[in-house]
Amino acid sequence: MKNNEPHGMSVWIKERIKSAEDHIRGAFERVEEISEYNQNKVLEAFKQNELSARHFSQTTGYGYDDIGRDMLDRVFACVFGAEDALVRPHIVSGTHALSLCIHALVEPGKGMISVTGKPYDTLEESIGIRGQKRGSLVSKGSYYSQIEFNGTLDAARTLESMNESTRLLYIQRSRGYSERRGLSPVEMQAFAERIKDVYPNAVILVDNCYGEFVNIEEPTDCGIDIIAGSLIKNPGGGIAPTGGYICGREDLVELCAERFTSPGIGKETGSYAASYEPFFKGLFFAPHVVGQSLKGAMLFASVFNSLGYDSFPKPLEERNDIIQSIALGKEAHVLAFCRGIQSASPVDSHVTPVPWSMPGYDSDVIMAAGTFIQGASIELSADAPIKPPYNVYFQGGLTYAHCKAGLIKVLQEMEKEDMINTSV
Ligand SMILES: *Cc1c(COP(=O)(O)O)cnc(C)c1O
Repeated sequence: MKNNEPHGMSVWIKERIKSAEDHIRGAFERVEEISEYNQNKVLEAFKQNELSARHFSQTTGYGYDDIGRDMLDRVFACVFGAEDALVRPHIVSGTHALSLCIHALVEPGKGMISVTGKPYDTLEESIGIRGQKRGSLVSKGSYYSQIEFNGTLDAARTLESMNESTRLLYIQRSRGYSERRGLSPVEMQAFAERIKDVYPNAVILVDNCYGEFVNIEEPTDCGIDIIAGSLIKNPGGGIAPTGGYICGREDLVELCAERFTSPGIGKETGSYAASYEPFFKGLFFAPHVVGQSLKGAMLFASVFNSLGYDSFPKPLEERNDIIQSIALGKEAHVLAFCRGIQSASPVDSHVTPVPWSMPGYDSDVIMAAGTFIQGASIELSADAPIKPPYNVYFQGGLTYAHCKAGLIKVLQEMEKEDMINTSV
């Protein structure tokens, strides 16, 4: 029989992985419980809405009576415990989905407060935090402020910063590329209740990127008005080829839809000349895939902890998103880590990732992603800004076996350069 074990894997790598798995196996059970719960939630939504093969059909032109489009909205609304949804291949990314919400919901003269510190990098220009670019929220007469985030949602401080013209509170669920912790939908509920007691008309928006299906609840199950995210992250299950979603209160989704198309048109038009099947299939797979990537993240954290590297979160710590960061501490280690991930990728495994300057970042950034869907970070991928403290951020993995294969390549790459001290 052909030996398909990773070429030349050292005994110590095998042993480290084995003992790391022994350490985290007990916690796999909880991950599986959540996947099973969410799998049933998705199935139930398909059943309730009577999904059929005819909903996969492509449409052209205006897309009047596009039943696939309407079904996709209904199924997402159902899965996310929301009144309505806008799920579209033409929402080009998570940033686009979030930007639609912000611009649709905050009128000139009204304000938005981010309660989890600075929002994700790509939103800064949309809001107008960086520069005062034409078309930003701030340039059109809305105001923006933020509350520094210390790890928990602070309702008292938020209420102090609010007034009658505060239209939107913004929460980022995921830790993103920082050392803050991710937030669970359950902790959002208590916060939302306290805010609504005083300002019933304020709208709470959650950036749900990387958080979908990590918990059994979603923010919209927990008193949050509206959420948005990307279909090439968690809810696309690695199968949706493109797109973004918004789920929430019907009146708010309608405003977003009118911003997305046009007032007077809203959700009523929009065709898709390819099949809708991958969006449904991706949603079907998403709870499982998210579980696989969480197990992979735990394995990376556990092995690197055993080698003396700190990780955020710790292997067995509560998780509210799929991101894992590891404190590698040195530029050369970050580069070796990313080379390992790239060489374990199904696509472009022969390519060597190098740091590069990217718009929106104040340092060079290295990205390792040999993914089927371009840039899909639900697939095994890693990125890191090339600056102290030299943390690498790793996420995704369509299967646990692939995460493990990636880990082996990373360890081999670091071993080659004498970066591993196996005596710790
Ligand atoms: C990825 C991400 C975004 C933006 O999504 P894109 O699809 O890359 O535009 C926003 N917020 C968070 C927390 C993210 O992880």
